Amino acid sequence: MSEVIILGHPLIQHKITLIRDKNTQMKEFRELVDELSNLIAYEATREIELKEIEIETPLGKTKSKVISGKNIAIVTIRKVIIVDPMLATGGTAVACIDYIKKCGTADIKFMCLIAAPEGINMLQKYHPDVNIYTAAIDERLNSHGYIVPGLGDAGDRLFGTK
Ligand code: URA
Repeated sequence: MSEVIILGHPLIQHKITLIRDKNTQMKEFRELVDELSNLIAYEATREIELKEIEIETPLGKTKSKVISGKNIAIVTIRKVIIVDPMLATGGTAVACIDYIKKCGTADIKFMCLIAAPEGINMLQKYHPDVNIYTAAIDERLNSHGYIVPGLGDAGDRLFGTK
């Protein structure tokens, strides 16, 4: 069974509260989602391997670390992180992972801001090898498929469409 990693870091939890707040306006909401994505990505990329290379600073030579991937052309990528603001029913996430696996990638992680228990169960049922990184697990889905208490419609809040 896959792991669900909940990011309890105070900076993440603080920003999650701000994006949940219905009084947070589009510009700030976007900035917060951007910041949160980076913070959650740090955790989801924790296991990336490093190699040491020698470089020259303006003051001398030193050994320093870089990501060790040799070839990042699209056809050779083997590690994929799926990024979606909300894991609600899990239907889209499962379809997306089905597709990526058909393309030949086995090492997949899923990252979101807020997850519903229903979405987690669905993902774990169909893709038990995919770990889930989230800042919160909320109570449930409502009859429209929205996460409660959630933050409303992430797309509308990002693009001001409502
Ligand atoms: N998508 C959203 O934007 N919000 C939800 O609560 C569920 C899915």
